[in-house]
Amino acid sequence: MRTTKAGRRILGAAFVLLLVPFVATAQQEGAVDLGLQAVEVLKSYLRIDTSNPPGNEAQAAAFLARHLEEAGIPYEIFESAPGRANLYARLHGDGSRGGAIILLHHMDVVPVDALSWNVDPFSGVVLNEFIYGRGALDSKAYGAVQLVTFMALHEAGLPLGRDIILLATADEEVGGRLGVGYIVKNRPDLLEGAEFVLTEGGSASEIGGRQVHFVEVSQKTPLWLRLRVTGPSGHGAKPLRDSAVNRLVRALERIRIYRGEIKLVPAVAEVLRARASYLVDPAVAETFRNIETSIGDPAFLAALIEEMEPLLRNTISITVLNGAPSTNIISTEASADLDCRLLPGEDPRRFIATLTDVIDDPGIKIEPLLVVDAAESRPGTPLWRALEDTARAQDSEAILVPNVIPGFTDSHYFRELGLVAYGWTPFVSSPREGPAHGADERMLVANVERGPSILRDLLVRLAASRGAVGYPSMPPCMASPARSSASSRSVAMSSALRFASILMTRSSESMSRPLSMILKSSG
Ligand SMILES: [Zn+2]
Repeated sequence: MRTTKAGRRILGAAFVLLLVPFVATAQQEGAVDLGLQAVEVLKSYLRIDTSNPPGNEAQAAAFLARHLEEAGIPYEIFESAPGRANLYARLHGDGSRGGAIILLHHMDVVPVDALSWNVDPFSGVVLNEFIYGRGALDSKAYGAVQLVTFMALHEAGLPLGRDIILLATADEEVGGRLGVGYIVKNRPDLLEGAEFVLTEGGSASEIGGRQVHFVEVSQKTPLWLRLRVTGPSGHGAKPLRDSAVNRLVRALERIRIYRGEIKLVPAVAEVLRARASYLVDPAVAETFRNIETSIGDPAFLAALIEEMEPLLRNTISITVLNGAPSTNIISTEASADLDCRLLPGEDPRRFIATLTDVIDDPGIKIEPLLVVDAAESRPGTPLWRALEDTARAQDSEAILVPNVIPGFTDSHYFRELGLVAYGWTPFVSSPREGPAHGADERMLVANVERGPSILRDLLVRLAASRGAVGYPSMPPCMASPARSSASSRSVAMSSALRFASILMTRSSESMSRPLSMILKSSG
């Protein structure tokens, strides 16, 4: 069987080559070139240390701008603070297809603990099949692919029916105040006529032998709070019962043991229902299709909480503590920061009121550090359909499912403005790719190489003017990435089955892949 299949593939490829002579070969070379170009851009991009803090995105913006300059594309770099730069460029269309699409990525990365890395985190080194570096997954590879694709569309002179905007921003990793937050507040002119945003937050995997694209449409909203309390000062040798630190500790203990109620909010229910479309076991799929009823079953609910608690309740992490500067001083002031994450649609004011009740001490002041209003994008838009068509050009059985992530990305800024923002990338993740924010962060070189042709395919579908319908689509050989091997397919299959067994409470061992996909997060 194996030989027959491989033989058929070779015959098929030969047939294509015979039928589509010169043009396809040129396009294929173009796609290969673009892929190699993206890898080269990424290598250099990873060598620029944009750890945030302090960020230093100005260096990265200048690096990206050099490419635009060479391609003859006008751009603008503007600083939101010294050294904190953002980059903007726009390809103009006639508007016949609709509003602009923004290709967004952030240039900053989270800091590294270099000792835990096996390679230099800022070397952009390629080892075996991987490219290593802080930001490889989050989100410089996507930035390199967006840049290369953007330049290729400009060079091809493709008549556009909508504008395409390239936006590389600062500061996403700590909330985006100096990046997208700054743009929304101070440079709304740059977003004029925008309708769609594509950025990080989505992922795709091979499950049950087909591609499943988890498109992020909604996220838990961060609510960062500072608790502050004052009290009498004193010497450490003479303890004070009601010192600021003691009162803070008492409040924090109440918060530590507090658990918010379990809720199935509409956005999460929709995501769980959509899971039915790729679950292998029909009985489990049915359970998810009727999630509102299923959640009434205590055993099912317990399994669900164990696997995906962050999507079922508001959470609080105590992250920063401050008291006296010295061991023998009783400080007049103490503070603690809380990283709270609210379910989509929750009201931050109501949550603060609940927290006030939990703390039950009027002396503790609650100061908001970061408040984000909840907003979501809906599936079913022209961008959603173009993504679906692009995925199916790669894998005829591919499906798109909406997803909610427990972390956050810059998408919320755009959703608050009423734009449709999706977390989607042209990459199909592999479990061998390294952790975003972790040591030895790495991406498969093959993913970076395929990225531009997939993104270009999407943009042609979404933004080419109707008159440009004849614009060549991807040659077939580039359009189908290496399908999963039989072994990786069976791994995906067995993890889906393991998932089923967890939910049937026959076993509750390790995390299943489908659910770990749901829980992928960013900031
Ligand atoms: Zn990111």
